[in-house]
Amino acid sequence: MDNITSLSLTELINNIKNKKISSEEVTRSFIERAEKSKTLNCYITENFESALKKAKEFDNRANFKCKLPGIPIAIKDLFCTNGIKTTAGSKILNNFFPTYESTVTQNIWNEGGILLGKLNCDEFAMGSSNETSFFGNVQSPIDKNLVPGGSSGGSASAIASNLTPITIGTDTGGSIRQPASFTGTVGLKPTYGSCSRYGIVAFASSLDQAGPMGKNVKDCALLQEIISSYDSKDSTSIDFKRNNYSELLTNNIKGKKIGIPKEYRVDGMPKEIENLWLKGIDIAKECGAKIIDISLPHTQYALPTYYIVAPAEASSNLARYDGVKYGFRSAGENLIDMYEKTRSEGFGNEVKRRIMIGTYVLSSGYYDAYYIKAQKVRKLIKNDFDEAYKEVDAILTPSTPSSAFKIGEKTNDPVSMYLNDIFTVPVNLAGLPAISIPAGLDNKGYPLGLQIIGKAFGEQNLLNIAFAMEEKINFKNTIKEWWIK
Ligand code: GLN
Repeated sequence: MDNITSLSLTELINNIKNKKISSEEVTRSFIERAEKSKTLNCYITENFESALKKAKEFDNRANFKCKLPGIPIAIKDLFCTNGIKTTAGSKILNNFFPTYESTVTQNIWNEGGILLGKLNCDEFAMGSSNETSFFGNVQSPIDKNLVPGGSSGGSASAIASNLTPITIGTDTGGSIRQPASFTGTVGLKPTYGSCSRYGIVAFASSLDQAGPMGKNVKDCALLQEIISSYDSKDSTSIDFKRNNYSELLTNNIKGKKIGIPKEYRVDGMPKEIENLWLKGIDIAKECGAKIIDISLPHTQYALPTYYIVAPAEASSNLARYDGVKYGFRSAGENLIDMYEKTRSEGFGNEVKRRIMIGTYVLSSGYYDAYYIKAQKVRKLIKNDFDEAYKEVDAILTPSTPSSAFKIGEKTNDPVSMYLNDIFTVPVNLAGLPAISIPAGLDNKGYPLGLQIIGKAFGEQNLLNIAFAMEEKINFKNTIKEWWIK
């Protein structure tokens, strides 16, 4: 069969189940493509030999009852994989081989998925461009000068360049939706507490959430039903009724009320983003949805709130990397000297910046002024959404304030880098689910995404709206495969 790697996840599953292709053939195709795509720098660790062995074993057993029958999948290197190097994109974990498996990846292997390898990401998932990785930046398949977005940049680039049929990323402030938007792919950030955080390298624990990234909404719905599970190993995991989202997926969204928040019309927003949003509104109407103007009055405080809460939690989470228990260690003259050298040499600049901000806002005298204040504002942001959801079923916004930017363009200007998350962070602060779907191209031919935000635990409704709109938008990525030698 030709073009195996360009098939959607759903098509691959059907072909394997109908015995038109074997898991070995599929796995081999993705490996061959990865060998030709090294320039993109998507992989940190390849697991190709073991994947081929597992694929052959699968073909011999041929258990077609599982949901991911012999499907090879590469995942973000933030998920702990038992016995396989897990770096979180950092030098400090460059020699870390976990002795346990994250719950979400375990759920994937339990359904027949096969690990292809670990994908590049920003260091500890801190970034919007995949440029903070110790393992070098990732290039966008859209254009070699562009970032793929971040922090799940390796994952987005891998989906857009057909290196993996589906993948999972993590989203603390936009790291699934922003790279999906930049690469013309689909990314879902689920409700906080839906997917277990057990075994995911922690960035900001009250915001982090794993979620699917793929070529289309249906593939993401299928992966979401697999990775979402109640897990007693994560104290913030929530026991609620989870659907078989892909089976219940429908494009009938007639009468759904979709809110348009006026505060997302930010100063200096490019005309193309405004036009994309208007196009989204028209498409939602065509699908039979009712458009309602709403207000989320505290939106302007979301970014500063996020950049207090996230670094505070990060500084606390990253205290564990001290060169003693695991990870990189630098020799020191005494214990304190060893700690200092290990952390100075092991962490990159962005991570150090976050640790310093986080330590500052948590320190005595500043804790009330910054951290407690931010927590209060966070509650107000959540209340805004609660109010809006009395009136509407979902909210439609652009995913990002611009299309993908150039490699190096924002590396010396952290604030302009942070501004990229302006439409995504409020969702994490409120713990809500949201999806980015590709919706158009800008005048340079770069993809632009629309974000749909749902109610807590309303993944089915959210996916249905995305599914209906995706069908009408009929987006086609224009990728020229410049990186294939
Ligand atoms: N870009 C944001 C940050 O740098 C979000 C990252 C994320 O979602 N992991 O914090």
